[in-house]
Amino acid sequence: MKLTRSFNRSLWAFHFNSGSCNGCEIEIVAAITPRYDPERFGIKLVGTPRHADVLVITGPVVKKMKDRLLRVYAQMPEPKVVMCVGTCGISGGVFYDSYNLEGPVDEVIPVDVYVPGCPPRPEAIIHGVVKALEKLERIQGGGR
Ligand code: SF4
Repeated sequence: MKLTRSFNRSLWAFHFNSGSCNGCEIEIVAAITPRYDPERFGIKLVGTPRHADVLVITGPVVKKMKDRLLRVYAQMPEPKVVMCVGTCGISGGVFYDSYNLEGPVDEVIPVDVYVPGCPPRPEAIIHGVVKALEKLERIQGGGR
């Protein structure tokens, strides 16, 4: 993927696992390795939601993670965007209609960017991050 424009801010992401099978986590880890090197654009994972611009969520939101997800979302400063990685978080995926689901994610908190796939490839995740950055810039410019 070619990034053709320069962004006016570095994007820091906080990853939240709402009950995934860890397949999406492996792809997120692959996306931040030197092969793709998103840190050259200032994109990196941070250890606390209080420092994050984007919330990267995997998994379908199981019952015990709903309150934690709401708390993490509330802890993030504005402006913020939410990126849902993987089919589970978008629709429930293979866990659709399970007894223990509170999701999908957009039934718990608002989602700005969807990255489909089970799991999505690193290129798709990085594309989603670029979309999240564009959305952040639109929010800063007064839009939504
Ligand atoms: S979308 Fe697929 S790979 Fe990702 S957490 Fe769900 S089942 Fe696992």
